[in-house]
Amino acid sequence: MSLVSAAEQLEREGLERIAAATTREELEAARTALLGRKSGRLTALLGELPKLSPEEKRAAGAALNKAKLLLEGRLGEREAELAAAARSRSAPVDVTMPSRPRWRGAKHPVTLIIEEVEQIFRELGFTVALGPEAETEWYNFTALNFPPDHPAMDMHDTLYLGDDMLLRTHTSPVQIRTLQTYGAPVRIIVPGNVYRRDFFDASHAPMFAQIEGLAVDEGVSFVDLKATLTHFAQQLLGEIRTRFRPSFFPFTEPSAEMDVQCVTCQGSGCATCKGSGWLEILGAGMVHPEVLSASGVDPEQYTGWAFGMGPGRMAMARYGIPDIRALYDSDVRFLQQFAR
Ligand SMILES: [Zn+2]
Repeated sequence: MSLVSAAEQLEREGLERIAAATTREELEAARTALLGRKSGRLTALLGELPKLSPEEKRAAGAALNKAKLLLEGRLGEREAELAAAARSRSAPVDVTMPSRPRWRGAKHPVTLIIEEVEQIFRELGFTVALGPEAETEWYNFTALNFPPDHPAMDMHDTLYLGDDMLLRTHTSPVQIRTLQTYGAPVRIIVPGNVYRRDFFDASHAPMFAQIEGLAVDEGVSFVDLKATLTHFAQQLLGEIRTRFRPSFFPFTEPSAEMDVQCVTCQGSGCATCKGSGWLEILGAGMVHPEVLSASGVDPEQYTGWAFGMGPGRMAMARYGIPDIRALYDSDVRFLQQFAR
Protein backbone atom coordinates (compact mmCIF):
# COMPACT_ATOMS: atom_id res chain seq x y z
CA MET A 1 0.00 0.00 0.00
CA SER A 2 1.29 3.43 -0.87
CA LEU A 3 1.93 5.90 1.90
CA VAL A 4 -0.75 8.21 0.45
CA SER A 5 -3.38 5.46 0.75
CA ALA A 6 -2.11 4.68 4.24
CA ALA A 7 -2.58 8.35 5.19
CA GLU A 8 -6.15 8.27 3.84
CA GLN A 9 -6.85 5.11 5.79
CA LEU A 10 -5.46 6.70 8.96
CA GLU A 11 -7.73 9.67 8.38
CA ARG A 12 -10.84 7.53 7.87
CA GLU A 13 -10.27 5.16 10.76
CA GLY A 14 -9.10 7.97 13.01
CA LEU A 15 -12.32 9.95 12.48
CA GLU A 16 -14.39 6.86 13.29
CA ARG A 17 -12.44 6.20 16.45
CA ILE A 18 -12.74 9.80 17.65
CA ALA A 19 -16.48 9.79 17.00
CA ALA A 20 -16.82 6.54 18.94
CA ALA A 21 -15.10 7.92 22.05
CA THR A 22 -17.72 8.62 24.72
CA THR A 23 -15.45 9.54 27.65
CA ARG A 24 -12.38 11.71 28.04
CA GLU A 25 -10.30 8.60 28.74
CA GLU A 26 -11.39 6.96 25.49
CA LEU A 27 -10.67 10.17 23.64
CA GLU A 28 -7.15 10.44 25.15
CA ALA A 29 -6.49 6.80 24.21
CA ALA A 30 -7.54 7.59 20.63
CA ARG A 31 -5.27 10.65 20.55
CA THR A 32 -2.27 8.59 21.73
CA ALA A 33 -2.96 5.75 19.29
CA LEU A 34 -3.36 8.10 16.33
CA LEU A 35 -1.02 10.99 16.90
CA GLY A 36 1.16 9.93 19.88
CA ARG A 37 4.79 10.98 19.41
CA LYS A 38 6.34 7.63 20.29
CA SER A 39 4.03 4.92 19.08
CA GLY A 40 1.17 6.67 17.27
CA ARG A 41 0.17 5.57 13.79
CA LEU A 42 1.08 8.93 12.28
CA THR A 43 4.62 8.74 13.72
CA ALA A 44 5.02 5.27 12.24
CA LEU A 45 3.92 6.46 8.79
CA LEU A 46 6.21 9.50 8.95
CA GLY A 47 9.06 7.05 9.59
CA GLU A 48 8.43 5.61 6.13
CA LEU A 49 9.01 8.93 4.35
CA PRO A 50 12.84 8.75 3.99
CA LYS A 51 12.50 5.58 1.93
CA LEU A 52 10.60 7.37 -0.84
CA SER A 53 11.69 9.21 -3.96
CA PRO A 54 11.49 13.04 -3.75
CA GLU A 55 8.17 13.20 -5.68
CA GLU A 56 6.56 10.42 -3.68
CA LYS A 57 7.82 12.07 -0.53
CA ARG A 58 6.12 15.34 -1.42
CA ALA A 59 2.75 13.66 -2.12
CA ALA A 60 2.90 11.44 0.95
CA GLY A 61 4.06 14.30 3.18
CA ALA A 62 1.09 16.43 2.09
CA ALA A 63 -1.37 13.57 2.67
CA LEU A 64 0.03 12.86 6.14
CA ASN A 65 -0.05 16.53 7.09
CA LYS A 66 -3.66 16.80 5.96
CA ALA A 67 -4.61 13.74 8.03
CA LYS A 68 -2.79 15.19 11.06
CA LEU A 69 -4.59 18.56 10.88
CA LEU A 70 -7.98 16.96 10.34
CA LEU A 71 -7.60 14.55 13.27
CA GLU A 72 -6.28 17.26 15.58
CA GLY A 73 -9.23 19.48 14.74
CA ARG A 74 -11.76 16.73 15.28
CA LEU A 75 -10.11 15.70 18.57
CA GLY A 76 -10.54 19.28 19.84
CA GLU A 77 -14.19 19.42 18.79
CA ARG A 78 -14.99 16.05 20.35
CA GLU A 79 -13.31 17.15 23.58
CA ALA A 80 -15.56 20.23 23.73
CA GLU A 81 -18.64 18.10 23.03
CA LEU A 82 -17.80 15.66 25.81
CA ALA A 83 -17.11 18.52 28.23
CA ALA A 84 -20.47 20.13 27.43
CA ALA A 85 -22.24 16.82 27.87
CA ALA A 86 -20.52 16.34 31.23
CA ARG A 87 -21.60 19.82 32.35
CA SER A 88 -25.22 19.29 31.41
CA ARG A 89 -25.23 15.96 33.26
CA SER A 90 -23.88 17.57 36.44
CA ALA A 91 -26.29 20.57 36.27
CA PRO A 92 -29.55 19.55 34.67
CA VAL A 93 -31.78 22.30 33.26
CA ASP A 94 -34.16 23.72 35.85
CA VAL A 95 -37.33 24.15 33.81
CA THR A 96 -39.03 26.04 36.65
CA MET A 97 -36.47 28.87 36.48
CA PRO A 98 -37.92 32.14 35.17
CA SER A 99 -36.59 33.02 31.72
CA ARG A 100 -34.26 35.95 31.16
CA PRO A 101 -36.18 39.05 30.11
CA ARG A 102 -35.87 39.88 26.43
CA TRP A 103 -35.92 43.55 25.58
CA ARG A 104 -37.70 44.53 22.44
CA GLY A 105 -38.01 48.01 20.99
CA ALA A 106 -41.42 49.53 20.34
CA LYS A 107 -42.77 52.52 18.51
CA HIS A 108 -43.01 55.83 20.36
CA PRO A 109 -46.60 56.97 21.05
CA VAL A 110 -46.06 60.04 18.83
CA THR A 111 -44.94 57.76 15.98
CA LEU A 112 -48.01 55.59 16.51
CA ILE A 113 -50.29 58.63 16.31
CA ILE A 114 -48.53 59.92 13.17
CA GLU A 115 -49.00 56.54 11.50
CA GLU A 116 -52.69 56.46 12.44
CA VAL A 117 -53.25 60.01 11.20
CA GLU A 118 -51.48 59.21 7.93
CA GLN A 119 -53.63 56.13 7.47
CA ILE A 120 -56.90 58.01 8.08
CA PHE A 121 -55.95 60.65 5.49
CA ARG A 122 -54.60 58.09 3.01
CA GLU A 123 -58.06 56.57 2.95
CA LEU A 124 -59.35 60.03 1.98
CA GLY A 125 -56.95 60.19 -0.97
CA PHE A 126 -54.12 62.16 0.64
CA THR A 127 -50.45 61.41 -0.11
CA VAL A 128 -47.59 61.75 2.40
CA ALA A 129 -45.15 64.58 1.49
CA LEU A 130 -41.90 65.52 3.23
CA GLY A 131 -39.61 68.55 3.23
CA PRO A 132 -36.34 69.83 4.74
CA GLU A 133 -36.07 70.83 8.42
CA ALA A 134 -33.54 73.55 7.61
CA GLU A 135 -35.51 76.10 5.62
CA THR A 136 -35.10 79.54 4.15
CA GLU A 137 -36.98 82.48 5.58
CA TRP A 138 -38.89 82.71 2.31
CA TYR A 139 -40.38 79.22 2.55
CA ASN A 140 -40.97 79.41 6.31
CA PHE A 141 -42.47 82.94 6.47
CA THR A 142 -42.58 85.09 3.33
CA ALA A 143 -44.31 82.65 0.98
CA LEU A 144 -46.80 81.87 3.76
CA ASN A 145 -47.90 85.49 3.85
CA PHE A 146 -46.07 86.56 7.01
CA PRO A 147 -45.33 90.26 6.50
CA PRO A 148 -41.79 91.27 7.58
CA ASP A 149 -41.72 91.83 11.36
CA HIS A 150 -45.13 90.25 11.81
CA PRO A 151 -45.70 89.56 15.52
CA ALA A 152 -46.24 85.89 14.68
CA MET A 153 -42.57 85.68 13.84
CA ASP A 154 -41.75 86.68 17.41
CA MET A 155 -44.31 84.25 18.72
CA HIS A 156 -42.63 81.47 16.81
CA ASP A 157 -39.33 82.32 18.47
CA THR A 158 -37.33 80.99 15.58
CA LEU A 159 -33.98 79.19 15.78
CA TYR A 160 -31.85 80.78 13.06
CA LEU A 161 -28.98 78.87 11.43
CA GLY A 162 -27.54 81.87 9.59
CA ASP A 163 -28.65 85.00 7.77
CA ASP A 164 -31.38 83.35 5.76
CA MET A 165 -31.51 79.78 7.05
CA LEU A 166 -33.56 78.65 10.01
CA LEU A 167 -35.00 75.53 11.58
CA ARG A 168 -38.55 75.44 10.28
CA THR A 169 -41.10 76.56 12.85
CA HIS A 170 -43.89 74.60 11.19
CA THR A 171 -44.39 72.04 8.43
CA SER A 172 -46.23 74.60 6.28
CA PRO A 173 -43.22 75.28 3.99
CA VAL A 174 -43.91 71.83 2.52
CA GLN A 175 -47.24 73.21 1.22
CA ILE A 176 -45.32 75.75 -0.85
CA ARG A 177 -42.71 73.24 -2.04
CA THR A 178 -45.35 70.69 -3.06
CA LEU A 179 -47.52 73.22 -4.92
CA GLN A 180 -44.42 74.57 -6.69
CA THR A 181 -43.41 71.08 -7.78
CA TYR A 182 -46.76 69.47 -8.62
CA GLY A 183 -49.23 72.35 -8.94
CA ALA A 184 -52.97 71.91 -8.26
CA PRO A 185 -55.01 69.86 -7.58
CA VAL A 186 -53.19 68.33 -4.63
CA ARG A 187 -53.97 66.53 -1.39
CA ILE A 188 -51.05 65.96 0.95
CA ILE A 189 -50.38 65.02 4.55
CA VAL A 190 -47.00 66.23 5.88
CA PRO A 191 -45.51 64.77 9.07
CA GLY A 192 -42.23 66.22 10.39
CA ASN A 193 -40.29 67.80 13.23
CA VAL A 194 -40.44 71.54 13.87
CA TYR A 195 -38.51 73.82 16.22
CA ARG A 196 -39.47 76.71 18.48
CA ARG A 197 -37.17 78.10 21.06
CA ASP A 198 -38.99 79.16 24.20
CA PHE A 199 -42.33 77.42 24.17
CA PHE A 200 -41.92 75.15 27.14
CA ASP A 201 -44.80 74.48 29.48
CA ALA A 202 -47.16 71.60 30.19
CA SER A 203 -48.33 71.51 26.60
CA HIS A 204 -45.32 72.73 24.57
CA ALA A 205 -41.81 71.38 23.93
CA PRO A 206 -38.95 73.13 21.99
CA MET A 207 -38.75 70.43 19.31
CA PHE A 208 -41.90 68.63 18.42
CA ALA A 209 -43.60 66.75 15.65
CA GLN A 210 -46.25 68.37 13.55
CA ILE A 211 -48.60 67.11 10.88
CA GLU A 212 -49.73 69.40 8.16
CA GLY A 213 -52.47 68.77 5.66
CA LEU A 214 -53.33 70.56 2.44
CA ALA A 215 -56.10 70.07 -0.09
CA VAL A 216 -56.26 72.32 -3.15
CA ASP A 217 -58.72 71.87 -5.97
CA GLU A 218 -61.43 73.73 -7.85
CA GLY A 219 -64.48 74.51 -5.72
CA VAL A 220 -63.01 73.47 -2.35
CA SER A 221 -64.80 75.25 0.53
CA PHE A 222 -64.83 75.63 4.31
CA VAL A 223 -67.52 72.93 4.45
CA ASP A 224 -64.97 70.42 3.12
CA LEU A 225 -62.53 71.51 5.81
CA LYS A 226 -65.02 71.09 8.64
CA ALA A 227 -66.43 67.79 7.42
CA THR A 228 -63.01 66.24 6.77
CA LEU A 229 -61.47 67.31 10.07
CA THR A 230 -64.51 66.21 12.08
CA HIS A 231 -64.42 62.84 10.32
CA PHE A 232 -60.71 62.62 11.08
CA ALA A 233 -61.12 63.44 14.81
CA GLN A 234 -63.85 60.84 15.18
CA GLN A 235 -61.79 58.21 13.36
CA LEU A 236 -58.88 58.83 15.72
CA LEU A 237 -60.64 59.50 19.01
CA GLY A 238 -64.01 57.83 18.65
CA GLU A 239 -67.43 59.51 18.65
CA ILE A 240 -66.20 62.65 20.31
CA ARG A 241 -67.55 66.21 20.28
CA THR A 242 -65.61 68.78 18.32
CA ARG A 243 -65.92 72.54 18.01
CA PHE A 244 -64.41 75.15 15.73
CA ARG A 245 -63.41 78.59 17.01
CA PRO A 246 -62.38 81.51 14.83
CA SER A 247 -58.66 82.13 14.89
CA PHE A 248 -55.96 83.87 12.95
CA PHE A 249 -53.02 82.60 10.91
CA PRO A 250 -51.23 84.66 8.23
CA PHE A 251 -51.45 81.81 5.71
CA THR A 252 -55.19 81.06 5.98
CA GLU A 253 -58.32 83.21 5.68
CA PRO A 254 -60.68 82.53 7.35
CA SER A 255 -58.89 80.57 10.07
CA ALA A 256 -60.17 78.30 12.81
CA GLU A 257 -59.01 76.18 15.69
CA MET A 258 -60.58 72.81 16.26
CA ASP A 259 -61.09 71.55 19.81
CA VAL A 260 -62.10 68.09 20.93
CA GLN A 261 -63.77 67.25 24.20
CA CYS A 262 -61.18 66.41 26.88
CA VAL A 263 -60.87 62.62 27.10
CA THR A 264 -59.44 62.78 30.62
CA CYS A 265 -62.40 64.54 32.28
CA GLN A 266 -65.09 64.04 29.59
CA GLY A 267 -65.51 67.80 29.47
CA SER A 268 -65.93 68.59 33.17
CA GLY A 269 -62.53 70.31 33.46
CA CYS A 270 -59.13 69.01 34.65
CA ALA A 271 -55.39 69.85 34.60
CA THR A 272 -54.93 68.35 31.12
CA CYS A 273 -57.50 70.70 29.58
CA LYS A 274 -56.65 73.53 32.02
CA GLY A 275 -60.18 73.34 33.36
CA SER A 276 -61.89 74.15 30.05
CA GLY A 277 -63.17 70.66 29.23
CA TRP A 278 -61.75 71.05 25.69
CA LEU A 279 -58.40 70.23 24.11
CA GLU A 280 -57.19 72.32 21.23
CA ILE A 281 -55.83 69.83 18.71
CA LEU A 282 -55.37 71.68 15.46
CA GLY A 283 -55.43 74.93 13.58
CA ALA A 284 -56.92 75.14 10.11
CA GLY A 285 -58.31 77.48 7.52
CA MET A 286 -58.84 78.28 3.86
CA VAL A 287 -55.48 78.75 2.12
CA HIS A 288 -54.78 82.48 1.72
CA PRO A 289 -54.84 83.54 -1.96
CA GLU A 290 -51.36 85.10 -1.46
CA VAL A 291 -50.01 81.68 -0.49
CA LEU A 292 -51.45 80.09 -3.64
CA SER A 293 -49.98 82.89 -5.75
CA ALA A 294 -46.56 82.54 -4.09
CA SER A 295 -46.66 78.83 -5.00
CA GLY A 296 -47.54 79.53 -8.63
CA VAL A 297 -51.19 78.41 -8.33
CA ASP A 298 -53.94 80.66 -9.71
CA PRO A 299 -56.21 81.68 -6.75
CA GLU A 300 -58.96 82.62 -9.24
CA GLN A 301 -59.18 79.02 -10.38
CA TYR A 302 -58.30 77.09 -7.24
CA THR A 303 -59.15 77.21 -3.55
CA GLY A 304 -57.82 75.07 -0.77
CA TRP A 305 -57.87 74.34 2.90
CA ALA A 306 -55.04 73.42 5.23
CA PHE A 307 -54.51 72.34 8.78
CA GLY A 308 -51.63 71.84 11.16
CA MET A 309 -51.64 69.75 14.27
CA GLY A 310 -49.28 68.41 16.89
CA PRO A 311 -49.34 64.62 17.14
CA GLY A 312 -48.07 65.15 20.70
CA ARG A 313 -51.34 66.98 21.47
CA MET A 314 -53.17 64.17 19.67
CA ALA A 315 -51.41 61.62 21.87
CA MET A 316 -52.39 63.65 24.96
CA ALA A 317 -56.01 63.64 23.81
CA ARG A 318 -55.95 60.02 22.78
CA TYR A 319 -54.20 58.59 25.83
CA GLY A 320 -55.11 61.20 28.46
CA ILE A 321 -51.50 62.30 29.06
CA PRO A 322 -51.49 65.40 31.31
CA ASP A 323 -48.00 66.77 30.43
CA ILE A 324 -46.68 66.71 26.87
CA ARG A 325 -43.09 66.69 28.10
CA ALA A 326 -43.61 63.09 29.22
CA LEU A 327 -43.61 62.22 25.53
CA TYR A 328 -40.11 63.63 25.03
CA ASP A 329 -38.43 62.67 28.33
CA SER A 330 -37.48 59.19 27.06
CA ASP A 331 -38.57 57.60 30.32
CA VAL A 332 -38.90 53.95 29.38
CA ARG A 333 -41.29 53.24 32.29
CA PHE A 334 -43.68 55.78 30.79
CA LEU A 335 -43.16 54.78 27.15
CA GLN A 336 -43.47 51.03 27.81
CA GLN A 337 -47.20 51.25 28.34
CA PHE A 338 -47.65 52.17 24.66
CA ALA A 339 -45.62 49.21 23.35
CA ARG A 340 -47.67 46.95 21.14
ZN1 LIG B 1 -60.02 67.72 31.04
